[in-house]
Amino acid sequence: PWHTRFAPSPTGTMHLGNARTAILNWLMARKHQGSFSVRLEDTDRERSTFASEASILSSLAWMQLEPDHPVVRQSTRLERYQNMARALMDKGLAYPCFCTEAELQKDREMAASKGLPPRYTGKCSTLSPEEIHKKMEQGHPYTIRFRVDQNIPGIEFTDLIKGLMNIPIQAFGDFVILRSNGWPSYNFAVVIDDQDMGITLVLRGEDHLTNTARQILLYKALDMVPPRFAHHGLLVDTNQHKLSKRTGAKSIPELMRAGIHPLALVHYLAGLSGAVKGKHIVGSLDELVERFNPRRLGRGNAVFQMQELEQLSRTYWHKLDTEQLLPHLEELASLGAPWHNLSAQQQKALIATVQPNANCGHDFAPLLTPLLRLQACYDPEAIELVQRQPNGHIIRTFLELVLDFTALSGHPADTPLPLDEIGRILKETSTRAQVTGKELYLPLRMGLMGTSQGPEIKQLFTVLTCEQIIRRMQDACV
Ligand code: GLU
Repeated sequence: PWHTRFAPSPTGTMHLGNARTAILNWLMARKHQGSFSVRLEDTDRERSTFASEASILSSLAWMQLEPDHPVVRQSTRLERYQNMARALMDKGLAYPCFCTEAELQKDREMAASKGLPPRYTGKCSTLSPEEIHKKMEQGHPYTIRFRVDQNIPGIEFTDLIKGLMNIPIQAFGDFVILRSNGWPSYNFAVVIDDQDMGITLVLRGEDHLTNTARQILLYKALDMVPPRFAHHGLLVDTNQHKLSKRTGAKSIPELMRAGIHPLALVHYLAGLSGAVKGKHIVGSLDELVERFNPRRLGRGNAVFQMQELEQLSRTYWHKLDTEQLLPHLEELASLGAPWHNLSAQQQKALIATVQPNANCGHDFAPLLTPLLRLQACYDPEAIELVQRQPNGHIIRTFLELVLDFTALSGHPADTPLPLDEIGRILKETSTRAQVTGKELYLPLRMGLMGTSQGPEIKQLFTVLTCEQIIRRMQDACV
């Protein structure tokens, strides 16, 4: 089983690329009963915020990607990183570097002018113990750098997606593992965390390939067995540009507000990697795990298309049953007493009535509002239509039949007509007014709803109460 993790830096909201990485890690873990962990990489003191942490965790929860262990926060583990850095120094595999930012900047410019990579020159790697001691005594601030063995040709590893990789060592010089403020660098913290958290598979974007090489060097130096690595391609738009806020890609909270169904998003992003059988089917997460085949994870970039996601999401909202819908319909609370006073059965019938016209969860409350009012709101088109003959006559005939039924049966006014009565009254109206089909239904719908939009007329009769039907038909007759 794979023990995976999702390790966001809490410096903003979650975007699509992160979400996809999280989903793939979650799937890898679930596929063979492994575990999925979440780690907040909050070592960038200036840019990390609690608001961003909260937002990222709530995006994960929204997508139903539950971690199996408590969330780990790097800022609580500083001592551990410092101890490990000291251990590397004791072994001579790391050293203090007293270069100032200005000096480093000058070296980088020098390298750039010669067309070389901005690699650390190794200036402090040869300081004697006495020199080091003296500088420390004098209180010079220092970082700790890892000594990269430049004699090895490259760093080789087998990537689960990309196959055999060989990253040339010339790309990097001795890199910082501990900053002068005692906080770890990204690469250093990640290695110790992944080890301590029992991570067996690191799956992330291919933009991390050179980091992986550095991390493999660190594992070796720390006498640790590295996990397996897998690097997936990036998310791009139809022009093959990496998705970004600048090119208009929406963040996860934005997609949530736009009414995208979380399961549609999870299925869509998982499907983009080519590893899901039947990629345009949305079902439960268990079904997704079932259809996911890690061996088919694609190497290339994945093209994200908002229209595809929207389409998938709409289709999914339409096919959900009421039980599945309810948790997403918190906004119905805003409908107030007319909604809350209904029985659960009436509520469900109303939800099912408007569902074919709802493209997302936010659509339900506005679609339900006209069905909860006593009276309808009439379009000019409807007013004109109901007044025209024989429409007025049809509506009046229908109204009289409903009034007769309620008067004779004592049927409660605040419930819908019985189903067989609806059928009978419609048939009788048709016979008396000598109209059928659209000529019968359109005037009735206009009288009832005041608009040609919305649910089917037969469906409406099953959810509107006798009181509503009578009042609306009376209004239409004046
Ligand atoms: N915090 C890093 C990021 O958000 C995590 C990379 C990794 O998975 O190691 O890119």
